[in-house]
Amino acid sequence: MSDFKNNFSWSMSRDSLFRECKRKYYYNYYGSWGGWERDRADKVTRTLYVLKNLQNIHMWKGSTVHWEIERILKQLVSTGKLTPEDRSAQRVTELMREDFRSSREGLYWNKQGSMKNETALFEHEYKTNTPNETWKQNYDDVIMCLQNFYNSDVLKRIEKLPKKAVISIESMTAASLSFTPEIIFVKLDLALESGDGIEIVDWKTGKAKSDELQFRVYTLFANEEYDLPPDEITVTEVNLMSNESFNHNFSPRELIESQEYINKSIDAMKNMLKDPEENTAVMTDFPRTENERICESCNFKKICFDLD
Ligand code: SF4
Repeated sequence: MSDFKNNFSWSMSRDSLFRECKRKYYYNYYGSWGGWERDRADKVTRTLYVLKNLQNIHMWKGSTVHWEIERILKQLVSTGKLTPEDRSAQRVTELMREDFRSSREGLYWNKQGSMKNETALFEHEYKTNTPNETWKQNYDDVIMCLQNFYNSDVLKRIEKLPKKAVISIESMTAASLSFTPEIIFVKLDLALESGDGIEIVDWKTGKAKSDELQFRVYTLFANEEYDLPPDEITVTEVNLMSNESFNHNFSPRELIESQEYINKSIDAMKNMLKDPEENTAVMTDFPRTENERICESCNFKKICFDLD
């Protein structure tokens, strides 16, 4: 049992998991709790915790690109120096090689404590026999995303901005917003002062269509955190794969609809708990999805059907 209390909070990823499969949601937020304590957690909790932290090859691409952009921007803002592009490519190449090796050997199972900075790949855990060409393409895509970042209009603008105009880089905030008593977790890739308002930049590395709710949550957060009206908040979606950018602005009416959506989502989650005040849950209250296609790519599939 962990010494930390498992407090309820809401986030986009939590909502998405809840919609996908209730049992997966339970494993992720309740069953795996405390599993970071390798030598204290029971076997099921430890297994759920490690499996929860698997990422597939596409997620690995996204997290690698985000980490490298974070390093580049933090250095640029603190020193005024831009990492040369070839140095960045070299750093990412070394990082991906090391991550790949350690994941292939399953070293993540030995990790004590948080796995936040550990690379544990679904393809290795489940021995998917992913062809070499797919791994190579994934690496090439990372390099291409970084090239597009170096050529992006956003980077050119940041280079000319005063240091204080960069409000945050890859910041995770536990926000208290007025429309709910629950904590809302919001992670902004980048926030910049822009004219009288603020610009929130979101880096995308996938081909899938973006979920507009995510951008609305950013706007709700900025509206209260920075006390700005919605028309002074812009979310810029920069797709580093397709090399396209899109601006998103939301009306007060659209933001109210999003608040209603979040409150309904919170109610649905809390209604399934054994004790909503204490945030405790019983596994069998969370049914498995009947959609087998979701199970095929699920991190928990090796243990799910052995439980309960
Ligand atoms: S294996 Fe299927 S039923 Fe089990 S948690 Fe994953 S998605 Fe849900």
